Formats: sequence, C-alpha cells, structure tokens
Amino acid sequence: MKCEMRISPDDNSLTRFWVGSESESGVEYLVDLAAIPVGINRRGTPVYNGACIGRRSETEWDHHGCKHFQCVQGPALRNPLNKGRTFRCKHILCARKFIEEAAVDGMIQQLKVMNPNLDEDEQT
Ligand SMILES: [Zn+2]
Repeated sequence: MKCEMRISPDDNSLTRFWVGSESESGVEYLVDLAAIPVGINRRGTPVYNGACIGRRSETEWDHHGCKHFQCVQGPALRNPLNKGRTFRCKHILCARKFIEEAAVDGMIQQLKVMNPNLDEDEQT
C-alpha cells in the first residue's frame, strides 16, 4: 500500500500518530495503533486493530475519527461474526506503514551487525 499522507508521532503517546487528510488540507486524524485487540498472531504476539479516534483542524477538535472508521469499520468490528478480523481505515493503515518502514530499517541494520558471514568487501 502506498501512503502519501503526512504522518507525525503524537507528543503524549508512543502508539498514537497524526495522519494528514488526503482530501482536506489542514485536517489531521489521530490514530491509536494499540487500540482494540483482535487476537494473537502465529508468533504469539497480540494483534491490535487500531482506532481512528480524533480529528483536528486549525479551528476545531473532534473526539471522533474519520467517517469511514466511525460508520463502516467500527460497526463491523463490533459484529461478533467478524471476531478476529481487522477493519482498518486508510489512516490506521498509513500509520502502520510508517512504523513498519522504521522497524524494518532498524531490523536490517541489527541483522547486518550480527551477521557472522560478512560480505567480502567488509572483511578485513
Ligand atoms: Zn480514519
């Protein structure tokens, strides 16, 4: 998934991010990636759906996320028939992509440092 939206970490929580609106300039949505647990993955790690929980512009603050999350994905998440499934708006997906990129870069650097079989040009 390609994400062109502007993203910035929230000052008060490490799991929250502000994601710029694609269609409205000056509007940002607040996403909490650690909201709404949906199950455990194959590695035994909890999986969170995340939630789009707020909206702000230069003039107003609203304790609701985007309409898509409020009206479509939220109700789907609360439906017992969908237990274990994820329903993520584009703001949640973009915030996940943002930290995924940072995590993968960090992981590659760690693997490179720990690699016992160095590339020829790095051996002394
Ligand atoms: Zn959203």
